[in-house]
Formats: sequence, C-alpha cells, structure tokens
Amino acid sequence: KVKTIAIYGKGGIGKSTTTSNLTAALSTMGLKVMQIGCDPKSDSTTTLRGGGYIPTILDTLREKKNVKANEVIFEGFNGIYCVEAGGPAPGVGCAGRGIITSVELLKQLRVFEELDLDVVVYDVLGDVVCGGFAVPVREGIAEHVFTVSSSDFMAIYAANNLFKGIKKYSDNGGALLGGVIANSINTEYAKEIVDDFVEQTKTRVIEYVPRSVTVTQAELQGKTTIEAFIDSEQAKVYQGLAQKIYEHTESRVPEPLEEKALHAWAFKWADALLAMQTGEVR
Ligand code: ADP
Ligand code: SF4
Ligand code: MG
Repeated sequence: KVKTIAIYGKGGIGKSTTTSNLTAALSTMGLKVMQIGCDPKSDSTTTLRGGGYIPTILDTLREKKNVKANEVIFEGFNGIYCVEAGGPAPGVGCAGRGIITSVELLKQLRVFEELDLDVVVYDVLGDVVCGGFAVPVREGIAEHVFTVSSSDFMAIYAANNLFKGIKKYSDNGGALLGGVIANSINTEYAKEIVDDFVEQTKTRVIEYVPRSVTVTQAELQGKTTIEAFIDSEQAKVYQGLAQKIYEHTESRVPEPLEEKALHAWAFKWADALLAMQTGEVR
C-alpha cells in the first residue's frame, strides 16, 4: 500500500528543501516515490530537476483538454516522479481548490495504481490553515502529516495552527500528525524550545535537521544535498529522516495550545533566554 505524507510549515521554513531531500533519500532506498508540490509558487521540485521548473497541473488544465499523465508528471533525480499542482491566476480562485483539482486529475489518470508507488509526499504551504490549505488534511488525501518548524516563534505559531486544523478534522477521517521535523536546529536553546513545544502539544520531533551550508551549496547547483553531497553529514541526517518516516505508522491527534497559553509559553521562553544571557555575561 502506498504511504501518503503531507509536509506543512510556514513559508520559507524549509519545506521544499526538506521534502526534496526526503524523497531523494527515499529513492536511494530503492523506493518508488512521487513528490507533489502544492504551493502556488510551484518551486517544490526544482532541486530534483537541476534547478528547472516544470509546467503545473493547473496551467496545463487551463491550456488544454484531455491532459495525459506525461504532461503533468516529470522525471526527477533517481526516477522520482515530480508534480506541481500550481495555483490559480494571482488574485483569483482558491489555492486549496487547486490541490483538489490536481489530486482528482491524478486519480482520474490512475497514476497512483499504475505507477505502483511506495510513497507519495505532498509539499504544502502552511502559513494559514484556511479551509483551502487544510485540504490534504481534511480530505484525508494524505495519511500522515509532518510539519517543518524551527525554534522561531512564527514557525511554531504556524505549526500550532496546523495542529488546530488536524484536531478539528480528526473525527471525520482527516489526516493525523506524525510529528515535527525540527529544521535549522544548531543551538542548544533552539532544540530545547522545540522540545518543549512538542511536549506541550503532545507530539514529538521525528528528526533534528541542522542549518548547513552544504544545503546552500547543493541548492546553488540546482540539486538536493542527497544528490550533490551524498557522503556529507547533512545527507546522513536526511537519510535518517527518510528511514524514520518510511517506518512511521502511528500518527496522533495533537493538543494545540490555545492563543493565551501559546503567548504565555512564548513569554516563559523570553524570560528563560534572558536569564541564559545574563548568566553568560557574568
Ligand atoms: P519553504 O518551501 O518552506 O518555503 P524552502 O525549502 O524553499 O522553504 O527553503 C527556504 C530557503 O532556506 C532555501 O534557500 C533553502 O536552501 C534554505 N534552507 C532550508 N533548510 C535549510 C538547512 N537545513 N540548511 C541550510 N539552508 C536551508
Ligand atoms: Fe486561499 Fe485558503 Fe481562501 Fe482558498 S480558502 S482562497 S486557499 S485563503
Ligand atoms: Mg516551498
């Protein structure tokens, strides 16, 4: 049975980078993988394709009828199937609707059966958990949701909103939370902040990914770290993440913090960091 995963997170937090390294690592494990970019930016799969952009499903559907599989699915690194859902014309339509349209087209083309996929990973924008972007959760398009978050408050705020969405739809066959992929974790306090947040919200961190110049170098070459620097420490981290996600089975309903509790939590950390700094000065 195909494993379906959705990766959420605040804009710019590293969803596409993490997702592409994840699918690249899964492919090197000998698995058949598809990556579906659900961000209207449609840049999810660029590092799987040498830095190039592929036509999006929505653009292709606007241009012609009877769209064929090979017009919306493109081969990327190590045979990964790359898809970009795309978005509505700027200023019109619902981006969430676009995700539904794209998944419907792929189902209609029977690609999930015919390609005999092991894993499908959706790369979803997660700043707002509006009805539109909640689609992969609400419709149960993906079975397991992971969110990329750093220790920055806005990233945690976005993750907490996602948790609210997951909890809301969990009674009606919605996707459940697999855990948090902690990105850009290089300092001790960053790890502690994320650890505390997952504890408060009854979830867990599936992997800590450091911020690394190796990722930057690979991206500048139009590649994932897995493709460009397979022997690097950073590639090992992504391989570890891939292994854990592949073996992951039990997702849960998270316990998001209420608005007031989240702010109280933030203030607690503000004080803690201040105490750490003054401790250093002495
Ligand atoms: P998103 O898809 O969430 O909008 P991206 O994956 O496009 O974010 O990442 C934004 C930028 O941050 C990219 O230039 C990417 O290379 C960089 N980045 C993300 N994670 C890391 C990391 N662990 N180390 C170094 N750079 C990173
Ligand atoms: Fe955009 Fe969300 Fe509104 Fe759809 S529901 S138009 S995705 S903000
Ligand atoms: Mg992205």
